[in-house]
Amino acid sequence: MTLAIIRCLSDNYAFLLHEPETGETTLIDAPQAVPIQAELAARGWTLTRIYITHHHWDHVDGLEALRAATGAEVWGNGADAHRLPPLDRTFAVGDTLPGGAQVIDASGHTRDQVALYFPGRASVFTADSLMTHGCGRLFDGTADEMFDTVARLSALPDETLLYSGHDYAQPNLDFAARYAPDAGALAARQAELPGLAAKGLATTGTSLASERLLNPYLRCHLPQVAAAAGVPGANPRAVLAAIRAQKDAS
Ligand SMILES: [Zn+2]
Repeated sequence: MTLAIIRCLSDNYAFLLHEPETGETTLIDAPQAVPIQAELAARGWTLTRIYITHHHWDHVDGLEALRAATGAEVWGNGADAHRLPPLDRTFAVGDTLPGGAQVIDASGHTRDQVALYFPGRASVFTADSLMTHGCGRLFDGTADEMFDTVARLSALPDETLLYSGHDYAQPNLDFAARYAPDAGALAARQAELPGLAAKGLATTGTSLASERLLNPYLRCHLPQVAAAAGVPGANPRAVLAAIRAQKDAS
């Protein structure tokens, strides 16, 4: 399975997964039609289906143009269908989908947002839930829901690559540096990130193992993180809520 990461709008990512054996191509989120169509054309891929993670406009704005141009089948969470664009098919948390994706409840940024986990390629597409070095802002979801989502994603194998829906890696890393990350991992990533950006390379797709060293939302159980958040001794849920509130205020 080949992955193409497509930069859309100002800082969104869309993802194309192509299976050479079947010729099928799956798109995860549709922020903007033009760059996605250009990538499909450049690679000679035909779009088979689109999986939508959540309803925010910057994840669905290109949907109707792509559907009209390609006839691809549009899928989304049935529990969230009332505010998603019209769906051809619905899925539910726990389902395994064509292309091998497993649907994980990723509520927190929005309620009933989903993450899509492809065990066959050790990759999880998390949209605006757990993100590279951070997590999404809480809109209609809660800190408790985000905590549960982070716990579900944290249960995936260490080698799993985490792909989030925006290029927020640099500001997230700057913020994560406040919360006692692993010093060696922080220094290595601080050295690496500007070069990725300069070359136009994607900043998402870090391993869960590396996120466990850097991402404060995966480290809320650690005493040094609670202390850095100003809530020493607090339980991990309260630590996550505190860090997320501090991000909102930053
Ligand atoms: Zn969003």
